[in-house]
This record gives sequence, structure tokens and C-alpha cells, in this order.
Amino acid sequence: MTTRTGRHFLNIPGPSPVPDRVMRAMDRQVIDHRGPEFARLGHEVLEGCKAVFQTKAPVIIYPSSGTGAWEATIVNTLSPGDRVLMFETGHFATLWQKMAARWGIEVDFVPGDWRRGADPAIVEAKLAEDREHAIKAVMVVHNETSTGATSRIAEVRRAIDQAGHPALLLVDSISGLGSADLQHDAWGIDVTVSCSQKGLMLPPGLGFTAISEKARAAAKANTLARSYWDWEEMLKPNTDGFFPYTPATNLLFGLREAIAMLLEEGLPQVFARHQRLAAATRAAVQGWGLEVLCEEPSEFSPVLTAVLMPDGHDADAFRKLVLDRFDMSLGTGLAKLAGRVFRIGHLGECNELSLMGALSGVEMGLDAAGIPHQRGGVLAAMTSLRTGRDD
Ligand SMILES: *Cc1c(COP(=O)(O)O)cnc(C)c1O
Repeated sequence: MTTRTGRHFLNIPGPSPVPDRVMRAMDRQVIDHRGPEFARLGHEVLEGCKAVFQTKAPVIIYPSSGTGAWEATIVNTLSPGDRVLMFETGHFATLWQKMAARWGIEVDFVPGDWRRGADPAIVEAKLAEDREHAIKAVMVVHNETSTGATSRIAEVRRAIDQAGHPALLLVDSISGLGSADLQHDAWGIDVTVSCSQKGLMLPPGLGFTAISEKARAAAKANTLARSYWDWEEMLKPNTDGFFPYTPATNLLFGLREAIAMLLEEGLPQVFARHQRLAAATRAAVQGWGLEVLCEEPSEFSPVLTAVLMPDGHDADAFRKLVLDRFDMSLGTGLAKLAGRVFRIGHLGECNELSLMGALSGVEMGLDAAGIPHQRGGVLAAMTSLRTGRDD
């Protein structure tokens, strides 16, 4: 065993590194989740989430992974036999589609090449065609973590309105929230799905759904049997700061601290920081003479960058070398991108120097692995960071 010194670089696009402040906030005795101290915490995190989701609507917090919050969204708003429109933007969109299909939902899954987001023009065309309003929901992944392409949610909303269609807009912002701008109310989203271990900088274990009045009404009218995920069951005790079953108490202490951190920095500043770090990362990729997977500049992810390997070189062998030599974890290529891409996470608790450390690790790794590239990616990133500043 080699002895590791210093910190591990966790540069996968989630789980993201947990800030010391958040770890300290969680390092405490569990409290009575039916007591007055908990009620204060419950109120604080339920309110605080609204600020982060940019909504006045209720945000539901489950002790679950993001996948649980996906299922909660489906079982509350949809029933077997319902039709929905989804887009094959990558691995996560494909998984959500499979889950919907398992629930007997009929998915019109618009094929994609995993290099861009959902196309608002197709949303408009498909909904305009659907004169009987059979399509119950448009389900879109905001930040496709497998590809590093974001979908333009505000434009998807406009497309739905343009078609004059009543479909619900259900958005997976599991890896977008807290890193990429996501405006639940202003963008007219009906359900925003998220979880704790990406932009919220927490360990895994919390799932979220922010729900519009329209989504809540659809859920009330929905006769599909459900229990653990039922929104109304949650919303009743939430009024008093409580939960219908044991919540993930210590994660909620962490959540309170993470929300405080995001609001202290200011959401616009948080989003701008992610944009700046993402631009520097793309500058590095270009400097190495490699290719960013996302093809559409208006859809470049502020959260992560997926990098295509030159033909004949295996991304996972490269990742293994980087982990062994430099103690840095990079994201693997998922599903059909296995071996073809590696992903650099630049989300949550990260800054210019932590990014430069990560990019240096990539450049040294490319060199050590004998992968054809140009030197100068790190320099290009530094130049991008210098020119990208306004202070
Ligand atoms: C991580 C992720 C998920 C899955 O979340 P889990 O917590 O692993 O269940 C779903 N969608 C996107 C876009 C993700 O990034």
C-alpha cells in the first residue's frame, strides 16, 4: 500500500467534496425528530430550500438518493398508461425513461446523440401535434451528468406555452441545482427533482422535489396508489417542521449549513464561479488538443466537462493511472460512453486553485499515460481564469 498524503482530489461530478463547515455541522449527536429543536431545524431547511430552488412552492425532502426523488415525481403526478415526452440526452435521461416505462408510462423518447440537450423546437412540434392533449408531461434532465450538456429549461417552457399545451414540466436538476442556474418559479417548472450529493455539497442521502400548485393538483387528482413518496403525507407534518417518518436528521444539519454557504456567497456568484471554472476547463481541453463531448456551446455544462479520448486510448485506463499516481478521482464514461470519455467535475466546493490542481493532474496523467496531446492546457486554463475575472 502506498501512503497517501494531503487530500484526495474528488473530481467526479457527484458526489462532490463536502466542505469542512458542512462536515462540522453534521458531527453531532442525533436529536429527537419529534422535539422542538427538530421543528426549528425542519422549518429552517424547508424554507432554505425554497431559496435554493428559487421558488415560493413547497420543497419536499426525502431520505433517499436522487433516484428516489425521480420515482416520487412519477408516482405522484402520473399513472400507468399516461403518455409523456422525454429526450435521450444521455445516461440519466435513459434511466429515468426506463423507470417511467416500468411504471407503465408510455414514453415518447426522442433519440439523441448524447452530445447536446433537449431540443425546444421538438418539444413545441410534438406538443402542437398532440391536439387531444394526451401527453401528460414533458420530462427533461437539466444537467446531463453523463455528457456535460445542459438543456435550456426556460426555452423548453416557452415551447410548451407556444404550443398552448397543458403538459406538466418535470425537470431532473439533480446535478444542476446549486451549481447551474435553476429557477423553479420563473421558468414555470412543475416539479424540480434534486438530491444532496452534487451542487448541494452534502453526502448522498437526501432527495428533493419542488412542486408547483399545478403539480400538486395533478397529484391530488392522481389515483395511483402510493405511500412513502406521497406528497400530501409529507406536506401535512412539514407545516410544523416535522416529517411523517424518521428524516435523515444529521444530513439536515448539513443541509442547513450548505444552504447558508450558498446564500452567503449569493446564488448569482455561485453560478458565475461555476461558469468561470467550466470555461477554464474547456480552455484546458482545447489546449491539450482534445475534444469536449458537448457540441453545443449554449449547452456547455457549468458542472462538469466530459472529454473524448483520442481513438485507441481507453479512458478508464487513464483514470486508473491518475488515481494511482495523483490520488485524484475523475468521472468514468457511463453506458455507451464507457472507455470513450472521462469527466472532470468542477462543482460545489471548488475554486480556481482546486481546479488548477485537478487540471494539472489531468495534464500530468496524459503525459504519463502516453496519450497524444499538446502541452499547454493548464496554461490555457490559467489564462482563461485571468481574463474571466471581473475583480
Ligand atoms: C446523480 C444523478 C442521478 C441519480 O442520483 P442518485 O442519487 O445516484 O440516485 C440522476 N440524474 C442525474 C442528472 C444525476 O446527476
